[in-house]
Order: sequence, then C-alpha cells, then structure tokens
Amino acid sequence: MSRRSFVKTAAITAGAAAALGAQTTTAFAESTYPEVIGNDTVVVKTCCRGCGKMECGVKVIVQNGRAIRVEGDEGAWQSMGNCCTKSQSSIQAAYHPDRLHYPMKRTNPKGEEPGWVRISWDEALDTIVDNLREITNKYGGESIACQVGTSRIWCMHSESILKNMLETPNNIEAWQICKGPRHFAGTMVSGFGCSWMETIERPKVYVQWGGASEMSNYDDSCRTTVDVASRADVHISVDPRMANMGKEADFWQHLHPQTDGALALAWTNVVIENNLYDDLYVKKWTNAPFLVCEDFDDAWMDENGFPTIRTDGSYWQVKTRLLKESDIVEGGSPYKFLVYDNNWEELAKQGVTHQYGAFTWFNADQEGNIDDTGGFWEGENYSTAKAYEGREAAQENLLPGQTQGWVPDLLPFDPAIDPALEGEFEVTLKDGRTVKVKPVWEHYKARAAEFAPEIAAEITGIPAQEIIDAATAYATRIDPETGYGNGGIQYMLAIEHGTNAIQNARALDNLVGITGNFDTPGGNRGPTIVPIDGDLQGFGAWAPGASTPPAEINLKQIGIEKFPLLGWWQYWCDGPTIYETMVSSDPYPVRALWNESGNFMSFANTTTAWEGLLSLDFFVDLNLWHAPSTDAADIILPVAHWIELNSPRASQGSAGAMGATVKCVQPPAEARYDPEIVMDFAKRWGYEWNPSDPDNLWPDIQWQLDDSIKLLSDDEWPYQEWTVENGKVVKCEQKGTPLAEMKPKYTWDEYVAEFQANGWWQAKDVDPKQWGTYRRYQTGGIRARNREWARLDYTVGKGIADWKPGFRTPTMKQEIWSTVMEAHHPDDPSQFIPNWHPAPHDYQAEPERAKEYPLTVTTGRRIPVYFHSEHRQLPWTRELWPVPRVEINPQTAEEYGIEQGDWVWIETEWGKIREVADLYYGVPKNVINCEHTWWYPELSQDAGHGFQLSAVNQLIDNSAQDPHCGSSNLRGYLAKIYKATPENSPFNNPVPCASDGTPIIHTSDDPRLKEWLPTYEGRE
Ligand code: SF4
Repeated sequence: MSRRSFVKTAAITAGAAAALGAQTTTAFAESTYPEVIGNDTVVVKTCCRGCGKMECGVKVIVQNGRAIRVEGDEGAWQSMGNCCTKSQSSIQAAYHPDRLHYPMKRTNPKGEEPGWVRISWDEALDTIVDNLREITNKYGGESIACQVGTSRIWCMHSESILKNMLETPNNIEAWQICKGPRHFAGTMVSGFGCSWMETIERPKVYVQWGGASEMSNYDDSCRTTVDVASRADVHISVDPRMANMGKEADFWQHLHPQTDGALALAWTNVVIENNLYDDLYVKKWTNAPFLVCEDFDDAWMDENGFPTIRTDGSYWQVKTRLLKESDIVEGGSPYKFLVYDNNWEELAKQGVTHQYGAFTWFNADQEGNIDDTGGFWEGENYSTAKAYEGREAAQENLLPGQTQGWVPDLLPFDPAIDPALEGEFEVTLKDGRTVKVKPVWEHYKARAAEFAPEIAAEITGIPAQEIIDAATAYATRIDPETGYGNGGIQYMLAIEHGTNAIQNARALDNLVGITGNFDTPGGNRGPTIVPIDGDLQGFGAWAPGASTPPAEINLKQIGIEKFPLLGWWQYWCDGPTIYETMVSSDPYPVRALWNESGNFMSFANTTTAWEGLLSLDFFVDLNLWHAPSTDAADIILPVAHWIELNSPRASQGSAGAMGATVKCVQPPAEARYDPEIVMDFAKRWGYEWNPSDPDNLWPDIQWQLDDSIKLLSDDEWPYQEWTVENGKVVKCEQKGTPLAEMKPKYTWDEYVAEFQANGWWQAKDVDPKQWGTYRRYQTGGIRARNREWARLDYTVGKGIADWKPGFRTPTMKQEIWSTVMEAHHPDDPSQFIPNWHPAPHDYQAEPERAKEYPLTVTTGRRIPVYFHSEHRQLPWTRELWPVPRVEINPQTAEEYGIEQGDWVWIETEWGKIREVADLYYGVPKNVINCEHTWWYPELSQDAGHGFQLSAVNQLIDNSAQDPHCGSSNLRGYLAKIYKATPENSPFNNPVPCASDGTPIIHTSDDPRLKEWLPTYEGRE
C-alpha cells in the first residue's frame, strides 16, 4: 500500500469510527496499516507506554479489531527490539475485567464502602464543574489541588493547563521525587534536563549510578543498557546493592544508601587533584574562574545585582558575591563578571589590553538590557561558522545506520586569555575598600577536599583506593584522539530520593561538565530536541497561550516559605505539605483535588497523604481501574490505555528517537482519552483553550494531533548566526524560515503513515543543526530552544532563543557556584557549591536511633514485571511476582531468625509493614532493600485496597525533606525487622489480610489470578 492510499484509507476509517462513536470496536488502525499478515490481521508500529520512562518501539498485532499481542520492533534502533514483561502483558491490562468503563459517582460517605454508581459523562462533568466552582467561590482557586503521576501521555494536564484553568499553583507531582530534582538542579547548573545521558551513543566508560536499567525503565534501558555496558571499555556500577549487571562491572562502588553526594564529591576531588579535568572547558564554559568576594553583604548585593526571568515571565533578583563591574565602578554593568587573566602581561605585549588591567570580564547580559554583547568575553572574536568547525563523532559500536553527529572542536579563547582558577587577588571596590577575591574553583576544590577519598571512605563505606580507582577510570580519557571525554554519568533515581537530592544532582552535573562530558558523544546532553510536541511529553497538556499561571498565583503555592526555591522553580508545590494542609487548612484550605495518574503512595508519608485525601470535600480521579486513590474519590472518570490512543513521541532523554504511540483499538465502552476529557471540562468551565481562533476555541483531538507536529517541516528551522569582532557584535543574521511561515510537512495521519512505512526517525537527521550537533553551548544550540524556551516564547514573548553561545543560567555559564541557590538561601553559603549532609534518620546523623532501629532501609529498585505501583492486577505479572520482597543479607537474616520466604515486619517510628524475606548476599549486612508502593487489587473490600499492609512509604518521616525541592527521604533511614508470626500478626496470619481476614494473593497458583484474565465483554 502506498503512503497516499494508506492516508486515504486511514481517513475513511477514522471518519467511520467517529460516526459510530462508542459503539464501534473497529480500530482506527484496522486494515489500514501496511504490514498485513492475513485478511483480518494488521501489525501496528507504535511506542510502548507500559512503563513511563522510555520509548521502546513495539508492534501491536490486531486481529478482528482486537489487540492480541505486543512484540518488540527490531527496527526500533533505540530499544533494539526490546519488549519486556510489562509491555507484553499490556494486552491483559487493556482487556482486564476490572477496567473502568463508565464514569462513576460515590453514593456513600468516605470511609464506608463507596457504593459506586454509573453515571453519564454529562452528569460527571457537570458535577465536577459545580463542585469545583463552589469551592473556588468559597476559598479561591488555590483551594483546588491537582496531582500528576509519571509522564504516561494521559497525565500532564495537571501540571499545566489545569493550573491555568483553575487558577491554582498547587500541583502535586511524582516528578518531585522522580527526575524532577535533577531537572531542578540541572536548570541551576546548565539547563533543563541537562543530566540526561546519551547512553545510546555507546560511551567508552559507562557509569551506571544508582539503578539497574538493565531490568526495567530508565531512558535507555533493558537490551540497550546491556549492550552499552557490555561493549564499554569500562563499566562502573555505583549501587549499595549488587544489581544484575553489577557483577559484570569492572568497578562496583558499593556505597551506603544516600551517600551519593559524598562519593560524587570524592570523585571530583580525585579529578581535580590529578588534573583530569578539561582545562579549556572549565575556564571558558563554567563560572569556575569567576571571583568570589566574601565581603559583600545583603544591601551591597541587592544594589549591585540584576533581575532575571522566571518560567512564568516574572523576574527575580540575582544577588551574588561573584565580582562584577558594578562592584568596582559606578555605573558599571551588573552583568560583567570579572576574572583574573594569567596571560594579561603577555597579551599586553601583543597590544591586547584589558579595561581593568589584569582583570578581564565575561558579559552575561543575555536579555540585552545594557548592550547586545551578552554571551561574549571582553574583546572576544567569535563567529557561529567558526564555532561549528569540527568533525564527525568517532563512536565505536554504534548500530548500523546510527548517525554519529557533528562534534565542533573546542574553540580556544580569542584573544588568548587564561582565566585563573587558583590564587587570591586584591580588588578595589567602588566605595574605595580593598578586598580579597578568589576564583570559584578554589571554593569548589576546597569543598571536594572535604570529601577526599579517605574521608568519603568513612561516609560511604567504600575503601579509599576503590574510590580513587573508579574516579580515575572514569575521567582518564581512553581515546584522547576524539577530543572529548569517555562519556557521561547515567545517574538514576537513588540520588533524588533523599534530603541531598538537589546537591547530589549538582555534584554529578558539575563532575560531568568539568571532565568534558557535557553535550559530547555518549555524554549528558539533555532532552532530545525535535520540532514535534513529543518533547513536551503530552500534546494535550499545552494549550496555546497557556503554561504556568501568572506570578501572583504561583507565589501563593503551599510550601513556598519552607522551600524558597519552589518560587523560582514553579513547576510543583510541595506534595507532603499539601497533604498535611488538606487536613489542617494551614495556611489556607485545600478542599478539592483533580488527579490524573498521580499516586499518593510515591512520596510523602503515605498514611499522612491518605488522611489528606479522605478529608477533601471533592476529589475527581481519572484512572484505568479502581486503585487505592479511587477509594477516596467522589467521581471516577475512565481513561484510555496506551494501545487505544494517538500521541506524538520523542525521547524524553537523550536517545534522539522520534515516533508515535498509535491507536490500535478503540477504548472500551465509555472510556476516553483524557485530553478529550479535559477539553470537555474546559468548555464547561468557560476556559478558552485556543483563544487565537474564536471559531475553534475547544479543538478536537485530530486538531491537537495535527498541531503537535505542525513544526515538522521541510523548511529550515529559524536560527541566528553571530559574528563578534574585538568584543563588538558586527553581524547577527537571521537564517532559516520564520516560524509563522513554516509549512507543516505532515498531517497527523500522514505522519503516522510515514512512521508505519519507515519506522523511528533519528533526531540527529531531523535537525542536524540542533540535535545533530554536539557542544551546542559553543554553537548557540543550548540556548536556542528547549522546553523552557518553548514556554517562554509561546506564552510571554520573552523567549531567549538567541543562538548565543553559553547556557541559560544567570551567568550564562555552567554554574559550579549557583547564583540561584545564593539568591534564595543567602544566609547559608555552604549551599552555593555542591555539598552533602548525612540523611537525617540514618546512623551517621542519629547514632542513638540505631540502637533500636539498627538497619538502613533502601527501596525503589526496578522490578522487571512492575512499574512502581502498576500491573499488580495483571495475572501474568502477579503470577511471576506475587508478593513484595525485602532483600536481606543471609547473615543478617540468620541473626534475626529469618529464613527465605518468611513474612517479616519492617518497623520505624512512623509505621510498620510486612514484606517477604528474600535472602541475598548482594545487599550489605546493615541494609535492607524493600519494594515500594505495594497495594493489593484483590482487596476491594477495604478502602485503600490494602496499601496499609505493605506500602513502604508509611515508614518515612513526612517532614524529612530536601531543603530545596522538598524531595522526601525515601531511602537511607533506620528500621528494625522481625519475623511475622501468628502471634504478632492480625488474624493470627503472617500473610497480610483484609479487614475481614481474606488473605492477599501470595502464591502463583491462587485461583483469583484466573479471574483477571482478559475479557472482551462490556467493551462495546
Ligand atoms: S521498558 Fe517500558 S517502554 Fe520498554 S517495553 Fe518495557 S514497559 Fe514498554
């Protein structure tokens, strides 16, 4: 079938499906896609969403309008044909007998059996509007909270458009503990998502830090991880626990839970002390040579600082101890940061002099407030064309056909200044005082020395020499000929699950940068950039003209006083505080919640969160099935499964893949794709989604799909080329086609047809100037566009898509010294450079606690058959993995009289749960590894579906949080364990039971598993 005839047929089929509405079982895809096996069987290329975290290309086999199998797509180069248990069991999920088919309303008070009754969509949406209106009128929009889970396609409205519609800043996000801290920190260091690593480009040294992506999701995972690790010259596993590939690794850094930051700083110390850093990168692209003046006080910094923009278009004031021209001369620029030039005398002999003698400056005036030379050094010569000069990458082991990408050579300073990294200098300030200043690098070096290997050995439990060996192996270039480093650091969620989340990410991001591994092949590159909305993780979330609410609303967010940086970050409010506020109404009432795939068990103390949900006046939950959260809801709305919907998809990480999730079958009964639900709500709420077109204020899904790819074009993307001579901008040429004039290449249907015919695109080929080029800080690509840029550009017209070299930080440099941290925590200088503190309830911080609670809990490991709390009701996955397991070292187990397979109690001051003992020498003797977010779908008789029995976050202190982003202390706290016996267990049964004594499913032969096999009734 040609593409043209495919498109035609697809359009006809789509039209027929629309006409039949919910009555049809005919797939949009049916009989339209090219790879026809038999008369009634089609194979649909699509993107799996069985977990939330990577873009595995799979094929769904559809027979007679029914999906019958999911299998790996061998042509999907980014996932290498991977199709894990979760993906294969997606058929059991889509056709599960417990899928929600209709909107439901509660008829009994909370705490009792809900008495769910089927209602119409009209009644459901009217009820929601009436209740939210009443609450808004009474308490204001901020009294409504939204909650969002991981990026599963259907969930992102809570993060953006719903906040705008409801005029609330209070959005609870799993993101707060799941990659959010690194994005938060990364935005401070060099850019949003800078931590994402291009593992797919096969780094020479593969550092797998705090996770086991060979088992399950993490950006590039499963087959790709195994392939990358086994082909790398060196594989380093950093993990308290011996993960599957850990035993194959060359180095295993078996650190104590939650000591990651200390280890990262120890590696930094090794790198600095052994000159393993990239000298030119450090001097030119970080703020390491900027000079710190410790004599500045608040008033001085206030007067000599400068405003810079937040996400919502409002401004915050940069107040910094970094020395600027405005500190030394009246009327000087606050954007010109001074450095000491080691080469000033030599240059002077050549006729190149600096305005301030031995000191020269970098101008960070990125918005052109004073002049347009922001982004350049005093007297600099620069041209975009020169910045691109380089060569193709030279990565070995790429897959056939995989694009290498272009690596510009690192541009030397021109003129040849040599910013000092070390030393102490005297400077006369504009008030006549002479003060001493030191480069940021000196402070960084001193901080790293506080965690020198022999000190870090005490903290982490790793022998000093092993730390030195691993750090040296990472940072010593294996092939210096390439001109770039060995690769980045693929750090995972362990570093975010504690009270050092932001500092850990900053320590790692800076380590990657100084070793020359930022935006290099196999390095940390940030989120894939392609001109489709897939890089925004869900087209339905982003209504034209709307993103984050205005500052006056944002600044009302709960938790902002406790966590000042949340006001800068603006993406989430503090979840643990919100749950408490639902009960306390302090500082103001939070009375309603809109939840889209969010899970209250993921972070915060789960018991506290549950109490919050039960106390609400009104709670609407969009879900695939009854789950613990729906037991506290007033209205439940049924949503579509991933095989039932269309969505653009680009790699959220650095894999550089572009494709789509393609609708294979119709959703069951009245289940709907949630962008449609939210659009219907917007209409009833009176919110104009698409104000630019009065005739189409509430566009349908087809419009949104077309819109999501409209910037994919044969026209060249707009960009700028800069020519700077002797520090003066002599030319800034606008190139490419202006956005408004670009012609879309495809309609959605054409895009899908192309995808079916040719498979996944490589973003490097789609946009060679952007994603196809490395070292974009040099060419301008880093500042050109990313997620923030899109928001700014589309919302407040203050986009900084200027293609200037550098980063989008206040200093336009990779910030080792964080001006964001400094301005928001001015009284705590220990925070400005990456730092580490012991976890609050572990033995290093509370040795006394260890007497009663001797074991350290870690959690959150990847399980091949589950994704966090998902898939517990699928017969195959549950058969394979029926119960939660706690891994215990066999010697520890023996000490406690625990044997393999015993149910054990795990207890802290905040709660206790039961899991099954799994004896494993791969966990240290003083650590236990618990599974997280367990609940029991079979226990429908109890509100909460039995989460109270085993959900691990009942054990945590709700108030133990990262001081900057609010991440909960999910790992690294003390607990005690003891065997569950008939005497110490309810119903005299060590196996957890419902309130009526019914035990959970705990064996693979439980007959209840069969009741969950797919059903095809009731879908029509
Ligand atoms: S790892 Fe995730 S995206 Fe990949 S096949 Fe498994 S469930 Fe699907």
